[in-house]
Amino acid sequence: MCIFCDIAVGKQKAEIMFQDQDMVAFSDINPKAPVHILFVPKKHLESLQALGEGDIALIGKLVWKAKELARDQGISDGYKLIFNGGQLQRVSHLHLHLLGGWKAEEKVSEV
Ligand code: AMP
Ligand code: ZN
Repeated sequence: MCIFCDIAVGKQKAEIMFQDQDMVAFSDINPKAPVHILFVPKKHLESLQALGEGDIALIGKLVWKAKELARDQGISDGYKLIFNGGQLQRVSHLHLHLLGGWKAEEKVSEV
């Protein structure tokens, strides 16, 4: 079990935006953008490197829900989706970051 597994089963509190049997989406506790939401499979997968072919639809669903929440949050005119892996990943449970909501005049990173 890890912190994101705990959120997935309701053992750890989070600001949940969406969940179903496969995944949960919640606000990042330390936001790096005005809107920062994490999309997490309920099944513990360490990172993209742990994916099997049977998980392809699950990844598609995370991206699909990110697209829907970006729209619902009113940031569909500019956002970023990021999967971290390896040394860049601090929580070893696969998650997709949705980042957005910057004002037009704000500087946004190049990547
Ligand atoms: P990374 O593994 O580098 O992609 O980053 C993990 C992300 O999870 C960071 O942006 C953290 O702020 C976020 N995070 C860690 N613990 C929690 C938590 N309990 N609730 C919400 N977000 C969290
Ligand atoms: Zn986990």
